[in-house]
Amino acid sequence: TGVVVAIDGPAGSGKSSVSRAAARELGYGYQDTGAAYRAFAWYCLEHGVDLADASAVTAAFDGFEYGIGTDPDDYYVRVGVREVTAEIREPRISAAVSAVAGNREVRALLVELFRRVIAEDPRPGIVVEGRDITTVVAPDAAVRILLTADEAVRIARRAGELTDADKHTAQQLVDRDRRDARMVDFMSAADGVTTLDSTALDFEQTVRAVVDLVRG
Ligand code: C5P
Repeated sequence: TGVVVAIDGPAGSGKSSVSRAAARELGYGYQDTGAAYRAFAWYCLEHGVDLADASAVTAAFDGFEYGIGTDPDDYYVRVGVREVTAEIREPRISAAVSAVAGNREVRALLVELFRRVIAEDPRPGIVVEGRDITTVVAPDAAVRILLTADEAVRIARRAGELTDADKHTAQQLVDRDRRDARMVDFMSAADGVTTLDSTALDFEQTVRAVVDLVRG
């Protein structure tokens, strides 16, 4: 493995697009870990698994065949042969994903999978983004960043991403962060983690700040 760049942050912080653009500029791979939680939630819904039943959710993981593209120019998410890249962004998945992510056994299995993807990536480095990358998945990463932004800004950015205007967006985002924060603390920077506040930065400036942190 080359250089690992770990980036955590709340929903709507711009993590995914910023991480991907930074990876492209650095010639690194890109791993979106939230996509795995979303893909597994999609799989559970597809198979009628009761998300409130922890042992059923854990058992379902056995049949979960996950595939992710780590080339920042060829990003895709697959479950089995099915491409679910767009579908896992739907509000029904965002609403269901925290329930799946709250399952400790599932988290442990996904952390293993994330580390395998990092280890196997052929590029000189990889940008890995999520909620617990700086603390659990890759605490030894060369560069560790907490990407934040004021709540109002995060809501506005996320609203701009959705295809159909969803008036519940703001509340959904706040609710999801609250549920997620019970499992992992992504609102405060752990020891040695650099906080990058993007509230007053535009997209390009935020990407530049990440790239500068990596290049030192
Ligand atoms: O980053 P994104 O919003 O796509 O993540 C979707 C969900 O996956 C989060 O709301 C959270 O429940 C879960 N997640 C997590 N740990 C990560 C990444 C995502 O629990 N490292």
